[in-house]
Amino acid sequence: MKKAHILLIYTGGTIGMAKDFQTGTLKAFHFEKITERLPELSFLDCEIDTISFSQPIDSSDMNPILWTEIATIIQDNYNAFDGFVILHGSDTMSYSASALSFMLENLSKPVIFTGSQLPIGDLRTDARENLITSIQLASLKENKQAIIQEVCLYFEYKLYRANRTTKIDAENFQAFASMNYPTLAESGVHLKINREYLFRRKNNVPLSVFNQLDTNVAIIKIFPGISEKILNGFLSINGLKAVVLETYGSGNAPTGKWFLDTLSDAIKRGLHIVNVTQCAGGTVMPGIYDAGSYFDKIGIINGKDITTEAAISKLMFLLGKNINAKELKIRFETPICGEISKKSL
Ligand code: ASP
Repeated sequence: MKKAHILLIYTGGTIGMAKDFQTGTLKAFHFEKITERLPELSFLDCEIDTISFSQPIDSSDMNPILWTEIATIIQDNYNAFDGFVILHGSDTMSYSASALSFMLENLSKPVIFTGSQLPIGDLRTDARENLITSIQLASLKENKQAIIQEVCLYFEYKLYRANRTTKIDAENFQAFASMNYPTLAESGVHLKINREYLFRRKNNVPLSVFNQLDTNVAIIKIFPGISEKILNGFLSINGLKAVVLETYGSGNAPTGKWFLDTLSDAIKRGLHIVNVTQCAGGTVMPGIYDAGSYFDKIGIINGKDITTEAAISKLMFLLGKNINAKELKIRFETPICGEISKKSL
């Protein structure tokens, strides 16, 4: 059988950082050093090619232009490789991986994001396991077809659907969680693939990359004490087209008339507002409480159980499609690549 051919794309992040002894801070170093530091890569039963950002970055500097760069690398190499592993800083990994899940339309090969909490050169590093298992998962095939056919995130023995993840911990090796969707695979003595949860497309259409993301978006987290002046100020920002509104619990928000009127006026002016919960897990359920029941009536989009990371990138993606408000609401509330559940329970 032909060995799997994997493309390793290095964007930066702790995995490839080393201490700058002058300042004491961690700085990204060049990719060749990663492969030097991980000779085990040559023992894997697959061929690995590597490609690196010319300037590796801390993922705090990640942005939609760089997402397009990653997507273009995948597009240009799509036919020549069986799978793609993207080394990325953990801080914004869930945002990038969610965005790529929308941008890589009709993906049918594995794209696995990974990184680490400790640099690859550190004795106690988590980079070795994260990288090696990601490559093994990206190599899995059955009847000449990739077993994983979606954008995933692998960290600390778990493979997740990327657009369901959130970074939850800056200290523990278990840095990510997928609260509203089960893990796709677990690494123990054996690699256990939870096949029933893998994403499968119904059609067999070639990959296309959508990179017209519209970044006129914002995230607003409500809090007890939020005032009309502040909320209205945000919603009136010149050029703003869409907002992810992080509400409480199962999608609840203040019931004062000013609050409802401010949102309603903004929607009438053409702003798209998506209701997501501030809670790490669970779903928006409009209508359970009085606070929140009016959202549907004024045209707020129901974000159901989507993460904030997936919601903001889905908004950039749908705004870029230049569709009308009604269509955008329908498409937002409908899963594209498993990022949102079909029903809100
Ligand atoms: N600051 C780093 C980054 O996101 C953290 C990490 O890689 O874990 O690039």
